[in-house]
Amino acid sequence: MHGSVENMRQFMLASAETTPDRPAVVQPVDGGFRIVTYRQLQRRVDDYAAALDGLGLDIGDRCILESDTTASAIAMFLACCTLGLTFVPVSPDTPAKRLMSIIGTTEPALHLQAATGRREGVPEHVGTARFDRDGLRVERPPAPRTRHRHEVTGTDTAYIIFTSGTTGRPKGVVMTHRAVVSFYRGMLQHGIVNADDRVATTSPLQFDFSLLDIGLALGSGAAVVPVPRDALPWPRRFMRLLREAEVTHVNGVPSIWRSTLRTEPDLLAGLDRLRGVLFCGEDFPLPELRHLQRLRPQARIVNCYGATESMACSFTDVPNPIPDDLERLSIGFAHPGAEMMIMDGAGHPIEQPGVVGEIHLRSPALFSGYWDDPQATAAALVPDPLDPRSGQVVLRTGDLAYRGEHGDLYFCGRADSQVQVRGNRVELGEIERRLLEFPGVAACAALLLPRTDEEPVLSAFLVMESQARAFDKMELRAFCMEALPGYMIPQELHVLDELPVTQHGKVDRTALAARFGAHHV
Ligand code: ADP
Repeated sequence: MHGSVENMRQFMLASAETTPDRPAVVQPVDGGFRIVTYRQLQRRVDDYAAALDGLGLDIGDRCILESDTTASAIAMFLACCTLGLTFVPVSPDTPAKRLMSIIGTTEPALHLQAATGRREGVPEHVGTARFDRDGLRVERPPAPRTRHRHEVTGTDTAYIIFTSGTTGRPKGVVMTHRAVVSFYRGMLQHGIVNADDRVATTSPLQFDFSLLDIGLALGSGAAVVPVPRDALPWPRRFMRLLREAEVTHVNGVPSIWRSTLRTEPDLLAGLDRLRGVLFCGEDFPLPELRHLQRLRPQARIVNCYGATESMACSFTDVPNPIPDDLERLSIGFAHPGAEMMIMDGAGHPIEQPGVVGEIHLRSPALFSGYWDDPQATAAALVPDPLDPRSGQVVLRTGDLAYRGEHGDLYFCGRADSQVQVRGNRVELGEIERRLLEFPGVAACAALLLPRTDEEPVLSAFLVMESQARAFDKMELRAFCMEALPGYMIPQELHVLDELPVTQHGKVDRTALAARFGAHHV
């Protein structure tokens, strides 16, 4: 067995040596749970690795891993890591067209799916196999290849994750073992989880936040609890699962809490073991965050900021209680071993508080590049602006932020969420922030919607709290006018039961634009 310390397998299975009988995965099954200990998980990893090894693949060969997060899926990607095979996680509900495009570009040797998976139509030249607790069953062996490599190194690729595209068109983010492990080590320094905890993971496996959760749990000797996809949208099921699995920490995008806050707040308040809530992927609307904190004041709430290109980069405690006059959440400082800078348009670092610039991240956890896209890579991994001669690169995030009084950062939107309204520069996030201050607004999105033969229309979409009193749109407009210039006042207001979300659970602005855009009158 390969023994590189800079490998996800070594990192995640360290507790198999020290506490082999502790639970590693608490797997929901038919109304109950199956505990998989570290020893059992390691055995499953080794069994899968032995089976994969017989297929003659080379280090760096890609394997599509199509599965929900389960103990077996975790074992399978760790088996890939053991052999230096690159895994490409994909959710079972991925549309065929998108999967084919991922297969087309990554040219995988093998498509691996859970035994219960329903995917068909994988192209002939790709091998196929299914896996479950009993092992790996090869359906169609991969084409024979020559092995050129014999030693898995820290610089080998661990995985390729395709982004959901909220920050542009989907790109394949290539990550090395060394980057992932250094990220995990930095994250663990925050002491969020200990060995007695149980961490619920809610993001699909293809979203790297699932890997963050698994690393957070297994790297701490704790247990990970995969929340099944069909439990998440149902507050009662979701809350029952958290209670029965004795979950202590939950990580997920803010939208996973939305319907529970609206319809079953008491069930959330009753989760007495819940002592940590981590959120990631987008801003948590403050009214909802305050509500969550009022229901579970004992819980530490951590804002995990970052992008797939570095997994995440900061972990910042939300103040408890949230002060009444708090306007914006801090994204703090990068995790130990990394540093965020903000740069102005001319490429100079900004030190003084309150001045907005673009976040540039210096970190050993940066991705290697976008798969087969040197141009996009060069735009994101740029020469260190402080010393371009050094050959060092930093990640240009496309995110805007300013420094607070203590040097910590405050995220204020994407550089590309700036729009022009009748010639004025408008930051959509600023409009959203004002809307959220209106009593009863739980969450919202502002968009500039194109119209055929007309000026684009500044539109706002609101979700109200369940107890919110009825209000007049004129009243909300007047409220916005107290704080925003005329061209920033939404021309259209839509109250919706919920905001559409992407596969990853982030607000789906493209869907809103499609529904209310060009042809809508
Ligand atoms: P995509 O959404 O395109 O799939 P990512 O998941 O990598 O790609 O998105 C990363 C982006 O999400 C960041 O650049 C930032 O704009 C936003 N983001 C991530 N975490 C937070 C957070 N805690 N607060 C605010 N915005 C966040």
